[in-house]
Amino acid sequence: MKGQTAIITGSSRGIGRTTAEEFAKRGVNVVIVDIDDTVAKEAAEEIKAKFGIETLGLKADVSNANDVKIMFEEAIKKFEKIEILVNNAGITKDNLLIRMKDEEWDAVLNINLKGAFLCSREAVKIMSKLKYGRIINIASVVAFIGNPGQVNYSASKAGLVAMTKTLAKEYASRGITVNAVAPGFIQTAMTDKLPEKVKEEMLKMIPLSRFGTTNDVANAIIFLALPESGYITGQVIHVNGGMYM
Ligand code: NAP
Repeated sequence: MKGQTAIITGSSRGIGRTTAEEFAKRGVNVVIVDIDDTVAKEAAEEIKAKFGIETLGLKADVSNANDVKIMFEEAIKKFEKIEILVNNAGITKDNLLIRMKDEEWDAVLNINLKGAFLCSREAVKIMSKLKYGRIINIASVVAFIGNPGQVNYSASKAGLVAMTKTLAKEYASRGITVNAVAPGFIQTAMTDKLPEKVKEEMLKMIPLSRFGTTNDVANAIIFLALPESGYITGQVIHVNGGMYM
């Protein structure tokens, strides 16, 4: 992968940040995308200083088509090509169905699902010309098992899995593979905010008896991004400690 370029959305912290660092460690130039300009640029500078590769920090709201277009233009201006896209940016806005506001549904679907659609649409234009590409979508175990309070989030992630399979079929002939990684319970800011009681209950459901780390997820993403993984497409790798099999 050395010398390739990866765009990772939502990569100033959490799973995206660790993934960006793992790419950087392997000599891949990384584009750090975040909805906040300052944190995107800070993360890009830190990763550049630590790993000695080229980075670019960009502000973009992945649910905004114009932001996404500009983000790809800026990335191409600097790196000329993009081989890897990780659709990682995601949010939760939990509520039981009866109390869920339209805005909570829309925000989650727009960022988690439409965001991946917009970024993939730009990416395949570039990757089709290269006749090579790796698109990796970050789904979730809840797409497969459901989760009370997450009707918006689980639907967005299930949509992402279906989108993964469709794009895998559409772009196989161009040398582009499209796969998903479905994390279980991973320790990040997203899960830190859950009540202790919920965390205790979750732990009981995990045969490996621990929550996952961002590295557990990043390792699966790196594997799918390797040139050697070119015969794997339309698949979901579950990284959940056995929570769902
Ligand atoms: P996180 O720590 O909350 O990080 C999410 C990142 O996405 C942040 O950098 C955030 O930016 C960014 N972001 C939010 N909205 C955005 C937007 N509209 N445009 C661009 N960037 C945006 O989350 P995480 O736990 O690392 O999760 C990463 C992915 O894994 C998500 O798709 C999540 O659904 C999925 N996942 C996580 C878990 C888990 O247990 N943690 C489990 C299954 C799946 P700011 O920092 O500026 O807000």
